[in-house]
This record gives sequence, C-alpha cells and structure tokens, in this order.
Amino acid sequence: MENVKTTEKKQTAEQKPSIYSLQLDELKDWLKENNEKAFRAAQIFEWLYQKRVASFEDMTNLSKALRDKLNETFTLTTLKTLIQQTSSDGTIKFLFELHDGYSIETVLMRHEYGNSVCVTTQVGCRIGCTFCASTLGGLKRNLEAGEIVAQVVKVQQALDETDERVSSVVIMGIGEPFDNYDHMMSFLRIINHDDGLNIGARHITVSTSGIIPKIYKFADENMQINFAVSLHAPNTEIRSRLMPINRAYKLPDLMEAIRYYVDKTGRRVSFEYGLFGSVNDQVEHAEELASLIKGLKCHVNLIPVNYVPERDYVRTPKDQIFAFEKALKNRGVNVTIRREQGHDIDAACGQLRAKERKEETR
Ligand code: SAH
Repeated sequence: MENVKTTEKKQTAEQKPSIYSLQLDELKDWLKENNEKAFRAAQIFEWLYQKRVASFEDMTNLSKALRDKLNETFTLTTLKTLIQQTSSDGTIKFLFELHDGYSIETVLMRHEYGNSVCVTTQVGCRIGCTFCASTLGGLKRNLEAGEIVAQVVKVQQALDETDERVSSVVIMGIGEPFDNYDHMMSFLRIINHDDGLNIGARHITVSTSGIIPKIYKFADENMQINFAVSLHAPNTEIRSRLMPINRAYKLPDLMEAIRYYVDKTGRRVSFEYGLFGSVNDQVEHAEELASLIKGLKCHVNLIPVNYVPERDYVRTPKDQIFAFEKALKNRGVNVTIRREQGHDIDAACGQLRAKERKEETR
C-alpha cells in the first residue's frame, strides 16, 4: 500500500533538490554559475535559517529574477506536517510527509537546559535490532541532507510562535545515521554553520548501532560532536541476540573502534544500554559491562525498554533498574537512568510511524 502510493506520487512530480541540502559554499558556486554575486549566499542563508521564511518570494532583498531562478531550481518546503501531537510533559511529536509520500518522525523534547530536537535520517532502517520499531518495515530510502535540516527548521518555526529556540539536536530518530553517512555529515555542517542554524557542535549528539568503519571515519572528522553508541549488552552472545549487526561488526572490534575515537578526539563516548527484562538486566550483566568498558572515558545511559507491540520484550522492575545502576556506580562507572518523555504520544523511535503504517495498510 505504502509503495503503491509512493510510485503514483513519483510519477506526478519530478522533485527539485531542496535548498536546505546546500552548504554555504555550494550556494555561492551556484550563484556564480548563474551570474549572481557570491555574497547573496549569506543573504539567502539568513532568510532560510535566521528569518526562516516559507517561500523564496519572501526573500525581499533579492532581485525578482533571482527569486524566480531559485524557485525554478530548488524546493523550500519539503516536509508536510501530517500530525503534531503535544504530550502532557511538553514533548511534541511531528509526523512529516516527504515529497514521495513516505512519512518520518521528529520529536521536540523539553529539558531544563533547553529544547532538544530528535531527527530522523532514513525512511525505515535495515539494521534489524530485535527490540526496535523503526526497523519493522526495513529500509525504504536515505533522507537527503535537506530533509534532515528541514526537520530542525520546522520545529524551530513551531517554537518561533513562543519565541523559543532549538538549543540542541540529537540524531536518534528513525534510521542508522552512519548508514547515511555523507548526508548526515552534510546536515551536521549546515546546522552547525554560524550563518546556518548555528547549533554548537557540543549541543549535537549522534548515535550509532556500531558501523565500525564509519566510527573510524567519524573520529577523523575532528568535530566536537557528542558521540553515542547503542551497546545494549555486556558480551558478544547477548549483543548478537539483540542486535544482528553484532555478527558483522563484532563487539571486540567495536570496542577497539570506540577506543580509537576517544583517543583521537579526547572526547568521552556515551553508551546507550536498554534494559530488556531477563535478557541483559541482571547485576552480573552490570558487572560484566563494567569490566568491558573499564578505563574508557565514557558514560552509560540506562534506558528502560519502551514497549513495542510487535516485539515481546518486557520491562525491568524499578528496583532492579536501581540495583543495576548501583552495581555500575560501585565499579566507578558514570551512569544515569534516562528520563522518559512523551510516553502518552508514542514518542519512542519509530512508534508513531509504525502505527501510521499499520493504519495505512489496513
Ligand atoms: N540507529 C541509531 C540511532 C537510533 S538512537 C542507533 O542505533 O544508535 C535510538 C536509541 O533507542 C538506540 O539506542 C536504540 O537502540 C534505542 N531503542 C530502540 N528501540 C528501543 C526500545 N524499544 N526500547 C529501548 N530503547 C530502544
């Protein structure tokens, strides 16, 4: 059903590239090729990212001819808001439709320290983690950089109504960012750029399921971005059971790549560790985890499992979560239990989209 709908849409509209996919320098090159002055690029960036206009027509300090040319060449609004749900704790979940009919999720989370946006990098995912809703329908396609940038712009536009600002971005929505590496890097550079959304590298976090070659590549980029790895297990056997990617990229090799990252950047790594009832949540697992990451500059984020109807994992009881945390603390590990947000609005990865897909195929 989803595919049929998509093919139909693709036939009707040949998609122009999104202007949000362009770096400032690329925009300068395009202007020069079109006999325009390069300094217009900064003006266009200002309209896109500081003033956040909804059409090229609104870019009033550009000539009419240039506005028309931009409009013929690029698209500005690539995301259509299908659903915008606000949770009782202020979390806002967006379901956006892409130009080809697929839908993606973006979440705005409210923290004491500011507003954080969780972005999606792929339509679906091919990593196949056995607990995750994002991977249920497989991978449909990668997002363009501009489609990732547009998510942040859209949320910022929603916040503009109350004069608030997106202060941080986490790449923890649907998809595996390191499986769409170049577009993800391009996205990072645009939102981080002074003339772009100007979100500081230290306020951006990227999380991977552990695509080892890309971890080395990312370490060598030398960006001051926060880096997280979905570890979820203290040993090879359990990790392979939870995450099939562990068969291709093995735990010892993953740990070596992470050590390289920490040595190279001097930054610490965050480990996401989902607690899945009776699978990886016993004190002995905490002890094994502590020895696995011993000596590594890191932080462990414990995530009580989010219930996914298609997956049969159960929650770890509260006192056991605390016992697990304590066992790590006793061994000198930096650890926190993730605060849960947006429970009443399906805010965990891929849940809203999974629900929508089901309704569509009904
Ligand atoms: N693909 C990347 C980015 C996703 S980040 C990655 O795997 O790191 C989203 C985080 O939520 C990941 O750590 C993921 O493993 C975790 N997650 C997914 N489904 C979950 C569930 N049902 N319960 C708890 N955590 C889950």
